[in-house]
Amino acid sequence: MTVSTRVDLALLGIRGTPPVNRTGGAGPTDDGHFLIDGRSAAIPRNPNSPFVFDGDRVMYDGVDAGLQVESIARPRFYDLTTDDGVPFEKIAKLHGANVLATTVVQTCIRYREDQRCRFCSIEESLRSGSTVAVKKPADLAAVARAAVDLDGITQMVMTTGTSAGTDRGAKHLARCVRAVKAAVPHLPIQVQCEPPADLATITDLRDAGADAIGIHVESLDDDVRRRWMPGKSTVSLDEYRAAWREAVRVFGRNQVSTYLLVGLGEDPDEMISGAKELADMGVYPFIVPFRPHAGTLAVDVDKATAPDPAIVEKVSREVATHLHLIGMSAAEQRAGCAACGACSVLQNVGG
Ligand code: SF4
Repeated sequence: MTVSTRVDLALLGIRGTPPVNRTGGAGPTDDGHFLIDGRSAAIPRNPNSPFVFDGDRVMYDGVDAGLQVESIARPRFYDLTTDDGVPFEKIAKLHGANVLATTVVQTCIRYREDQRCRFCSIEESLRSGSTVAVKKPADLAAVARAAVDLDGITQMVMTTGTSAGTDRGAKHLARCVRAVKAAVPHLPIQVQCEPPADLATITDLRDAGADAIGIHVESLDDDVRRRWMPGKSTVSLDEYRAAWREAVRVFGRNQVSTYLLVGLGEDPDEMISGAKELADMGVYPFIVPFRPHAGTLAVDVDKATAPDPAIVEKVSREVATHLHLIGMSAAEQRAGCAACGACSVLQNVGG
């Protein structure tokens, strides 16, 4: 598959509903999960896409697009429930072929309409009843155990909505990590949160057993941050830099990552140079195309659309070249979104 076809798939999406998919939630969502050319790919579901998944093949304008595509089977752990009767599927989801992902607190102090990140729909999956608001550590441990035993998952991602406390949600994350590690000690876990006000919290997360951390800024341009993330942009870039530095000290080089979203209006050359600086300080810049989906303010109010494919490809290629140059690769991360790579094309171009 050419890189440009992979970029087109990431931006135009696909028609059809494969067995593993998600609707609403934190981060990129409304997608179907596949193996494309043997690599996990989370592709937006778009009823108007020229790409159609017919169950076996991807067709483009009625012609076989010639891609090596496999849909990922519904995992067996989805059929289990907790002792209280909560379906495991509402506690954590399979992402790609082998990642177990959960949002440990599905609410966010920033979700007020004038504060929320305009690309986020974290509370929509809660409203639709497809998840529960707060995941109990013991339930996550049971789900992780089952997902490893029944479905062979190899890593776990735990994210959280931001809490009102100064830990910004990290304390509950630490409790969840501790419980999962007690049940499945060898399972690598990445935690994701905003920079905690007290940087010692980063050590608490590592001590709890987290193997990697994502501290996601999404954009390095303050104007873009204020426009797209009015609440989150009140945490300054200086606070992000301090948290990244501390995280690299605690977790190690390349076990810290951040999302950078292409398509929010940031100058591509500035994003590339910012991503290179992050990589040089030990933080993996996970380049992800902005994904418009219903249920977000970006689409419902702003009518935002997917970015220009040429820009996605240029940013991904130039950042991947730099990562290669300095010997930083997604494959060396113990766990996390960048290690998974399904929401990005960075790994397709060598990142
Ligand atoms: S990159 Fe992250 S959000 Fe996307 S499928 Fe992988 S683990 Fe899930």
